[in-house]
Amino acid sequence: MKLAGVSLVKAPFFPSKRAASAHYRYRALVGIGGNEGAVMERFVRLLRYWTTRRDLFVVETSPIVKNPPFGYLPQPDFLNALAWVQTSLSAKALLRLLLQTEKRFGRVRKERFGPRTLDLDLIFFENQTLNTPRLTLPHPHWSERLSVIVPLGMMQQRNVS
Ligand code: AMP
Repeated sequence: MKLAGVSLVKAPFFPSKRAASAHYRYRALVGIGGNEGAVMERFVRLLRYWTTRRDLFVVETSPIVKNPPFGYLPQPDFLNALAWVQTSLSAKALLRLLLQTEKRFGRVRKERFGPRTLDLDLIFFENQTLNTPRLTLPHPHWSERLSVIVPLGMMQQRNVS
């Protein structure tokens, strides 16, 4: 599939879907991105890692989409995917877990729009809106990013067909 330079990458766990669990209080949408090194393999290891955690339950993942970079252009293409997760952590605690997970997978922060090993964003948390220095909900600009709207549209299409 081709759409404005966007293409699909096949990988284990992406896409995937299972029944929701009754044991968690909240539902959140997490953005997964990266463009440095073996990104697809890292996404697969990330999903494997999440399945070992009891505070996070992955219900659904999107296909992985390959996007041309924006902002700083001379860098590799980005891979992006989304995961609907269930959790009983608060939005702030979930963000902390996502930032720790980025570190675990070797993220080194350099330029703002530069290459990154793993970028995890909290796109939605229930229907909460929040505007603090550490956390903005929904994630700002989500509706303008191909990296979000393309996989989100694919998940929705799968759920109606
Ligand atoms: P980034 O360079 O895009 O990974 O920015 C990460 C920083 O953005 C983190 O230190 C967060 O505190 C902040 N941030 C604010 N809102 C969000 C959000 N919804 N999801 C992820 N990070 C956020």
